[in-house]
Amino acid sequence: MNLFRLGLAYIRAKRAMAIRSRRKLEERQLRLLRRHFRFVLEHSPFYRRRFQEAMKGWDSPELTWERLQTLPLMDKETMMSHFDELNTAGIRKEEAFRLAWRAEETRDFTPQIGDVTVGLSSGTSNNRGLFLVSKEERERWAGTVLAKLLPGGVTRRESVAFFLRANSNLYTSVRQRRLTFAYYDLLEDLSAHVERLNRQRPTILVAPPAVLSFLSEEKERGRLNIAPVKVISVADVLDDRDRQKIEEQFGKPVHQIYQCTEGFLAATCSHGTLHLNEDIVHIEREWIDRESGRFVPIITDFCRRTQPIIRYRLNDILVLSDKPCPCGSAMTAIDRVEGRCDDILYLKDAGNGQYRAVFPDFIRRAMWQAGDEILHYQVVQQAPDRIVVAFEERSGMDRRRMEEAIRSAFAQLFRRLKVEAATIRFAPYRHPPADRKLRRVKRIWSP
Ligand SMILES: [Zn+2]
Repeated sequence: MNLFRLGLAYIRAKRAMAIRSRRKLEERQLRLLRRHFRFVLEHSPFYRRRFQEAMKGWDSPELTWERLQTLPLMDKETMMSHFDELNTAGIRKEEAFRLAWRAEETRDFTPQIGDVTVGLSSGTSNNRGLFLVSKEERERWAGTVLAKLLPGGVTRRESVAFFLRANSNLYTSVRQRRLTFAYYDLLEDLSAHVERLNRQRPTILVAPPAVLSFLSEEKERGRLNIAPVKVISVADVLDDRDRQKIEEQFGKPVHQIYQCTEGFLAATCSHGTLHLNEDIVHIEREWIDRESGRFVPIITDFCRRTQPIIRYRLNDILVLSDKPCPCGSAMTAIDRVEGRCDDILYLKDAGNGQYRAVFPDFIRRAMWQAGDEILHYQVVQQAPDRIVVAFEERSGMDRRRMEEAIRSAFAQLFRRLKVEAATIRFAPYRHPPADRKLRRVKRIWSP
């Protein structure tokens, strides 16, 4: 662990967070982007070849904002199929996969090749991505995360409880005197973790929303006795119902980190607003619906050298905030991470019969409207005209009446959006395994 590098990243992030002028922030971005682009051209045979065509008309290899937008887009599939030539550490995909799988099965070591950590992204087994992070990058990552998340700065003693789907050096690299990181494996029984949390008494609690929601129930029942200064939701979409429940029990606003294997993309400021981490990534907007501020992020990480990420199109929907954050940061404020693009439902327009996007947030609000006796739910659009709602109600409630309430909330939504009504069917709710991403709203057919 190189404390100097961590400290430097911490200071850099703090400085960038203090930038108030958008122009200054963009100048800084372009400077870093240019340097990174030169590095990538020199060290990644894949990108060099891939950019050749776009760069034909350039009089110099110097990147500009306009030129960046002419470079081809990346996605997971392309990244994985050219893995060997894309990464700059000379690591072969086969070897990396073998190591990562073995580590996942035994769960007792973190796979490393040289000083590069190998990780697997979550996903279905045949669709998982590999990610590589060097020791240097880990240290810088840790510094940036600390700068963005420690409520009291580095001077306070903090104890962090971190619930994660997979352990990785990436997350446990921080263990200093003032700072304790305790890792909680989501594959283990959650109730066993409650005891451990009571002993640890964390000042910062980091977990996916479903776990935070479970922990707030445990707190309500008097089994969990912790009072963290900061509660942070990670990994899944935080919906309003969970947020309210967690805030009520912990007596604190819920903060958020938006991070995936492709990068550390956003974090909440002291006001609880999510800001894009534009000090380490550049994010272009591919608009889905400009009016409501919905866009798909295209990310270029100008700090990751081992596995460069340039113009990578994520499968997520972000919603721009319509008002500036009072914290004054020049980094773009977003209202929320709404879900994945595959979570958008499509229903036929009642007028012209064309498919119209019904955003996950609309569905979540309809479920919210149907009543707070619904404890857990999942809404799946199975076919153009069929939606299945699986839900679990508070015990003792009349399930029939709740079905009626849900039907009527959906009927209102369909009328308001002027789309053809879909048939609603009901099913019992089944809790997903803790290591799976929780998707409250999803679609399993394609228009
Ligand atoms: Zn802010």
